[in-house]
Amino acid sequence: MQIAPHEILDIEAIRRDFPILDQVVNGRQLVYFDNAATTQKPLPVLNALARYYEGYNANIHRGIHTLAEKATSAFEASRRAIQQFLNAAQVEEIIFTYGTTDGINLVAQTYGRRFLKEGDEIIITTMEHHSNIVPWQMVCEENGCVLKVIPIDDKGNLILEEYEKLLSERTKFVSVVHVSNAMGIINPVKTIIEKAHAVGAKVLVDGAQASSHIDIDVQELDPDFYVFSAHKLYGPTGMGVLYGKRAVLEAMPPWRGGGEMIKEVTFEKTTYNDLPYKFEAGTPNIADVIAVYAALEYLENLGKQKVAAYEHHLLEYATEALESIDGLRIIGQGPDKISVVSFVLDGIHHQDTGVILDQQGIAVRTGHHCTQPLMRRFNITGTTRASFAVYNTKEEIDRLVQGLHRVQKMMR
Ligand code: PLP
Repeated sequence: MQIAPHEILDIEAIRRDFPILDQVVNGRQLVYFDNAATTQKPLPVLNALARYYEGYNANIHRGIHTLAEKATSAFEASRRAIQQFLNAAQVEEIIFTYGTTDGINLVAQTYGRRFLKEGDEIIITTMEHHSNIVPWQMVCEENGCVLKVIPIDDKGNLILEEYEKLLSERTKFVSVVHVSNAMGIINPVKTIIEKAHAVGAKVLVDGAQASSHIDIDVQELDPDFYVFSAHKLYGPTGMGVLYGKRAVLEAMPPWRGGGEMIKEVTFEKTTYNDLPYKFEAGTPNIADVIAVYAALEYLENLGKQKVAAYEHHLLEYATEALESIDGLRIIGQGPDKISVVSFVLDGIHHQDTGVILDQQGIAVRTGHHCTQPLMRRFNITGTTRASFAVYNTKEEIDRLVQGLHRVQKMMR
């Protein structure tokens, strides 16, 4: 007999690990469905932050005193945990950043500015987050490169035949989102990477939405760069990861200059530090890097596959329930999706929907989700997005459905 996902995980026990969920908002028990924007943090993550500040707050790497050594050791343990999480071949390939946006900008401003020349083509997709559009536009403006965009079909899926037509010897860089934040669609990144490599282009994958839902093996996928943010993975804000293949990172110039990224400084010439420190100028976000270890451990203890199965169960339940609402249209209907449902309600502005749901204690995201070109493709200004995490329940989805009926009643 097959065991249902909600029987594999003890969701009530999991909810107790997230104290923030146990609160009343606008007179109702909070329903938090804004997980694609940021997930809530479990107690082990909160405790790791408190333990660092209460017990061994010190700057890392340079100190020889006990607290500094303890902080350095915890900081570097997180790097090794992330190496394992991504199955990266070497720990030097893991660079700490401030988030996905920061990681993409690092690559654009170093690899892009140094190696992409006039007439070179950079390919992105219609569904990119602004943080995977604007940095490349900046490179194009400065270096005279050309930005090309893979179109999508009416369901929101990439048209791979069009991608193949865009590829040529002029293609030097492909930067694609693993999972669309606005629709939840999972892109066939392995195929995209293989095809890009076949014409000699480098590839960056924006894993902001993928990291908490999908197993990521960078050796198997083979991107040149993979980026994500800890705060969408039950970890703290202001901390992210850039994975890069060692040879590519070695060839890249550093970005920010300052302490930590140098070997030796004289007024005549500075030599740069080895990887990964070459890209980590200044005091990093020590506490948050350390706390990421707890987030990864938490997810691993639950079992990422079990979490994904449970979230898929929520996605199916929500999709069916929302589709039964008259005048509701789901944006993004791929065969492969993470637990995100984005929709529009006939004749009702998404902002009104968001406000009325909030009055009922339900937190969703409304607007363009930092994907204005995607919204334009669908001829809409925005959607209402409900995104589910491991602590959400079917009962909460029922509350959303009731809430939407109320929205329709009030607005019609
Ligand atoms: N890319 C995608 C697909 C995202 O969903 C987000 C955040 O919503 C980002 C990039 C930017 O992430 P951050 O704001 O953490 O840098």
